Amino acid sequence: MMSEPTDGFQRTILPYNLFPRASRTARRGWNHMSDLPSILLAASEVVGFAKTGGLADVAGYLPLALARLGHPVAVIMPLYRSVRNGKEPIHTTEHILGVPLGRTILPCRLWRSELPESNIPVFLIENADFFERDNPERGLGIYQRSTPDGRKTDYPDNCARFVFFSRAVMEAAPYVGFAPDILHANDWQTALIPAYLRELYRHRPDYRRMRTLFTIHNIAFQGAYPHDLFHLTGLDFRIYNPHQLEFYGQFNSLKGGLVFSDWVNTVSPTYANEIRTPAFGCGMEGVLTERRDRLSGIVNGVDYDTWNTATDEHLAMNFTSENVVEGKAVCKADLQARFGLPHEARVPMLGMIARLTDQKGVDLVVKAADEMLKLPVQIVILGEGDPGWHAKLHAIRERYPKQVGLLIGFDEVLAHKIEAGSDLYLMPSQFEPSGLNQLYSLRYGTPPIVRTTGGLADTILDTTEESLLNSEPTGFRFQAYTPQALAGTVRWATHLYHERPETFLRIIRNGMKADWSWDRAALGYHKIYGRLVSERDGRRFAESA
Ligand code: ADP
Repeated sequence: MMSEPTDGFQRTILPYNLFPRASRTARRGWNHMSDLPSILLAASEVVGFAKTGGLADVAGYLPLALARLGHPVAVIMPLYRSVRNGKEPIHTTEHILGVPLGRTILPCRLWRSELPESNIPVFLIENADFFERDNPERGLGIYQRSTPDGRKTDYPDNCARFVFFSRAVMEAAPYVGFAPDILHANDWQTALIPAYLRELYRHRPDYRRMRTLFTIHNIAFQGAYPHDLFHLTGLDFRIYNPHQLEFYGQFNSLKGGLVFSDWVNTVSPTYANEIRTPAFGCGMEGVLTERRDRLSGIVNGVDYDTWNTATDEHLAMNFTSENVVEGKAVCKADLQARFGLPHEARVPMLGMIARLTDQKGVDLVVKAADEMLKLPVQIVILGEGDPGWHAKLHAIRERYPKQVGLLIGFDEVLAHKIEAGSDLYLMPSQFEPSGLNQLYSLRYGTPPIVRTTGGLADTILDTTEESLLNSEPTGFRFQAYTPQALAGTVRWATHLYHERPETFLRIIRNGMKADWSWDRAALGYHKIYGRLVSERDGRRFAESA
């Protein structure tokens, strides 16, 4: 049976779980003849082009993994200055779009590049006034600039910039080389896309079959603006109400994604539940509870080419789970030397790499420091963020010069050395939508000590006497957000390290085996896309892919 051709390609309808996989030769390739749903992923940052956080990783790595499954996929982002001057070559296309913004229509050329080492298209929305101001040397980022006193502040026209971008994605969607089945929007910057599709575009033939997925990477950022900016969207004021795009007298971009998309997901199952509560929902718990039947979570992936102990060129010794004990001993000595700490082979080393903000639980580390440092442990911390935390951590380092190493700054090489050279990893976050460092730690043989929240709850299996009997624990968890709970868990983990080395090694090896790859995450997205397209086509959705 053939579906109606909408994009020039005939599609064979198969039960979803019988869709053919792409051949391995198409590994990093783009397969526009595939039977799987085709995806246009819109994001305000993409790794390899512009990055401020985890969103860029998802936007850069997920499409590669989707292409490996056989999905036709393209990415679309703003043409920032860093993209124009960046490593990846960019080319003009013949398409000049007219993008409505308020009462005007701005012309906008569509450019094209490709994800690094692939042929997956990255379409770029050009508007020099809006997007080509970033210049790190002058303290100008893609969303924020530094003020003379060192603080960061949002650009005053961010609302117009990302309303424009979202609308430009809608105008560009017919020109990406295939008819997208799914528009996949991410975070507040692209959250209006589902609203545009429902309100302004769905009746047009090119858009009729499109469906939307909206992914929340961090609900704390909502793109909320004074109501008088709503007119920029070109959307009817009918939908400026508390059930749709208004939130307490402001125009709230994020709600466009939460209310109008066909499916909402976030970056871990536990965070998907947490954001339905006032403690985590940042005001969106009501609307998310209304949408609970269409809300799910998928933990982000790790790029195991970059994070691979067998090949990582930053390590003093490469290792696998076979020779992990010897490998980590060499890496630990290297790490101690790097921080000027005494070379102590049998003193457990606790590592931590984080933005030093309240989210990451730095206050717990500071308050639990004396208790933890009574034990024979060393702690190394790499991070930057709130100057108040810098000062408090410096004070601890001064009190314990033989036990504490501290580097305030951003240093990717050192991050690799800390993951490999530590015996335990500290991640006592207040909240953690998905989290990457605990996943790197697992692969690097460094059992994480985490608070039971968000992606940490979903990825770390706690070590207890019971779990040691019944399952394969990978780390250590605590629930109460208290210094006592953190210090107590460190005591338990270091007790195992000293007294039950065979058990500790088993925990290390369990973690190293775990698969948190992008291929696993992509299967989760594949199922959501498949469900949306099955619904659209009136087919029964077969859950097992
Ligand atoms: P978040 O995105 O909330 O900051 P994640 O754990 O999801 O937290 O990801 C943080 C990423 O940034 C990791 O790749 C981590 O190694 C890296 N990182 C954070 N701070 C630093 C730093 N000071 N130096 C090097 N890498 C860092």
